[in-house]
This record gives sequence, structure tokens and C-alpha cells, in this order.
Amino acid sequence: MDKNTKMYEWTLHEARQALREGKVTSAALTEAIFERIEAVEPKISAYITLLKEEALESARAADAAFARGEDLGDLHGVPIAIKDNMCTTGIPTTCASKMLENFKPPYDATVVTKLRAAGAVIVGKTNLDEFAMGSSTENSAFKVTRNPWNTDYVPGGSSGGSAASVSAGAAFASLGSDTGGSIRQPASLCGLVGLKPTYGRVSRYGLVAFASSLDQIGPFTKDVKDCAIMMNAIAGYDVKDGTAVEEATPDYKAALIDDVKGLRIGLPKEFFGEGISQEVKDAVYAAAKVYETLGATVEEVSVPNAGYALPIYYIIASSECSSNLARFDGVRYGFRAEEFEDFNDLFTKTRTQGFGEEVKRRIMLGTYALSSGYYDAYYNKAMKVRTLLKEDFDRAFASVDVLLTPTSPTVAFKIGEKTDNPLEMYMSDICTVPINIAGVPAMSLPCGFSDGLPIGMQLIGRHFDEKTILRAAYAFEQHTGYAQQRPSL
Ligand code: GLN
Repeated sequence: MDKNTKMYEWTLHEARQALREGKVTSAALTEAIFERIEAVEPKISAYITLLKEEALESARAADAAFARGEDLGDLHGVPIAIKDNMCTTGIPTTCASKMLENFKPPYDATVVTKLRAAGAVIVGKTNLDEFAMGSSTENSAFKVTRNPWNTDYVPGGSSGGSAASVSAGAAFASLGSDTGGSIRQPASLCGLVGLKPTYGRVSRYGLVAFASSLDQIGPFTKDVKDCAIMMNAIAGYDVKDGTAVEEATPDYKAALIDDVKGLRIGLPKEFFGEGISQEVKDAVYAAAKVYETLGATVEEVSVPNAGYALPIYYIIASSECSSNLARFDGVRYGFRAEEFEDFNDLFTKTRTQGFGEEVKRRIMLGTYALSSGYYDAYYNKAMKVRTLLKEDFDRAFASVDVLLTPTSPTVAFKIGEKTDNPLEMYMSDICTVPINIAGVPAMSLPCGFSDGLPIGMQLIGRHFDEKTILRAAYAFEQHTGYAQQRPSL
């Protein structure tokens, strides 16, 4: 570690090392993060809620535990941020929506419980596209988050606040949720490592549901080792989540091996076609060359139905959200319209006033796709093609161990550039949505720059094989310098 590095620039494992060696206290580390937050928040707006008092209290508790000789592991005493669609007891959980502006959950999401049990210091709740619908964090009812690499540009979305906070040094790591790319695409645009674990690997209990058959929680970190540390803390079976899988959780840190000799990497040709910018393709092909020089084999493979992923996704995700968001009715909890005549009027006015444009668009699309007469033509058909796409991945993984693709078709775009054109915004997810549809794990990690903006590549693995992704990512990181770059905010 360079002596001149500021504390907020440390990786999570560097921060933890400094704590272990007694070079810094958790209280001082947390103070340093809040100083950084105060300096950069006016420029990036990554947070919706800051928890300074609570954080300093947990930090002091962590220091007291260290003094007693206790060690809760790699997160003990380390400041972490959480996307504001994960429930936190007594702390606002807004989903960046007017609908939940004053909602304080009576319980913690399982991932939050796990982070607290691991001694992490929770510094705040980060901004997102309302109910996680979007690719730029411009759909928040409260604020627009900006990209730390260039504040005229979007950080990606929907977990843009979680990405911007880590990228700017305003947290050592954060949690995001990924339904169609919301961890990987902002990780790519902000120069971070972002992992969407296998569907069922991490409990979603306490994550406000968007599209239940696609949603997963995962970490944003500055490097691959930090990603493994976060996964060790959050992965695992949970009786409270009916979709959590009873599969043994490996030690993800054990996957950090700088050796890819003999690893078979597939480049699915459908992910390098029209719509993917040249600089992104070049950077990913250059990464494939790095792997070859490290002894991996690289071959072209095919995921023939990948072209249907975006239409399938927007039918399935919208259908599921139209059902999940029906609970926001002005009766049970959340926002309620002030004046209404009868129940129908209460329901209509509450939802018209409480939800933003994009959320309403999705609810209408989903309601349409599920309505009788259209169900077979849209939802049912999408589900059938979903099976075909999943089989495509199974076939590809019969001949290779991991797939390598771009994460986002372009580097970050300008704020306001795509807000008037939803379809163009949806195209941002062209490389990430197929992964949620198949339920496999995938990571984005930095692999280049274009005009000072980060480029990310995506490594996709077999179901429950996050370890091979981590190994491939770790090896790449050891032989390239992208993970060491920080924005000069
Ligand atoms: N951008 C995609 C959408 O708007 C994905 C969102 C997500 O992963 N939460 O639906």
C-alpha cells in the first residue's frame, strides 16, 4: 500500500488489513468515509439516506470488539453502503419512489442481517432508478446520481448510487440488485467489479421485489478480492426466501488463483454484433488475447436465441412487476392520495401520483401482457423462449468453462441523452438481460477506457460456479492495471 494513498482510496481488504494491524480504528475509517462523502456528494448524489450517527456507533462497537480480541472476519469495522431497495429496520427504505418516501421497515433484509453480523458498518442507503427500473439512475423520484469519472455522464442503473459511492471512495463496497443488469451495467460504467450471483445463491428476503424470477442481490467492489469477501458474507441458504437454494456455500476467497492455464473461454458471437460500439468490442477482444497469453483457450461459441433476450425480458419483467407492485394501493402502507371519492378513486389517484413515469409504463406493459387474450401471445411465449435461451447457455457451457462478452454496449452516456427514448435506454441491457433470464452468474470487471470513461467486460459462468468467474477475473486483474484506476473527482 502506497503511504500517500488516502484512506478512502483503499480497497476493502486494504482497509481491513489496516484495522487488523491497528494502523487505524474503525471510527477513524468511518470518519474518513464521511469526510469523503461530504466532499463528493454535492457532485455525485449517490446517497438517499446517510447514517452517520448509527455508523459511528457501529464503528465504536467494532473497535471495542477489536480491543477485546474479537475478530468477526473480513468486514469487521468496514464502512459499506446499501441500495435503498433493501429493508433496514427503522431506517427509510424508499426504492427512490414517492410511494415509499416515508416507509421505515420493521425488519432487516437477510443480506443486511448478514452484513451486520459480520461487523460491517452501514453508512447509508444509495440512490436508484425508482423500484430498480432503469439503466441510468435518472428515474429516481429524488435525485439524479452522476458518474464519478465525469459528472456530465450517467453512472448507469438501476444501482447507480451503489456504484457511484464505491467508485468515488464514499464506501469501501456496496450492495446492489440486478434484475436485468442493474449491478453489472453500472459497475461497467463506473469502473468497478460487480457480480450478479446465480439465481438462488443470495437471499432476497427483504429486497423490495421488482421481477421475482430475475432479481438477485450482489456486491460492487473496487477489485475481485473484495468481491469474494462480500460474497462470503452474503451468500447462502435462507429459510425466509423460498427461492434460495440449499447448496453448500464455498469459500470464495479460495477461488482467487492467478492461474487460468487450460481454462476454456467462449466468445458468444451474438454479443459482438450490431449495436456494440467498436471501442467496447476492441477492449473485450484485447482481454481475450490477455487470457490466451496466460494459457487459456479462447473459442467462438453461439447463444442462438440471445437476440430474443431483450423482448423476453421486457415482457417477463414487466408482467412480474405489474403483479408485485399491486400491493402499493394506498391502503396497506406507503403513500396515499389526499383526496378521493371512493375506493377505486383512492387506488387510482394513489398510484397515479405515487409512481413515476417509467414505473407506470412497466405496470401498463405487464398488465397488458398478462391480460386474457394476450397472455398466450406474450407472457406464455416469452416463457417458452426463456427455456430455449437457458438451453443455449447449457449447450455453450458443455464446451467452455466461462463466457466473455461486453457488459454494456457503450461507455457511459450523457445525463439526459436517453431519457426521452425508453427503447434506446432499454438497449443498454442487451448484453446483461440474457444472464438473468437463464439464471446463471455473471460479473462485470474493468477492461479499458475510452475518452476517460471506463469499459467493462462480462464473465458468465455455469449455475453456482461463481468460483470460476472469480478465478478468471482475478487472473485478468493481476496482469492488467484497470482495477487500480480511480476517478480524479
Ligand atoms: N435496466 C433494466 C430495467 O430497467 C434492469 C434493471 C435491473 O436490473 N433492476 O429493467
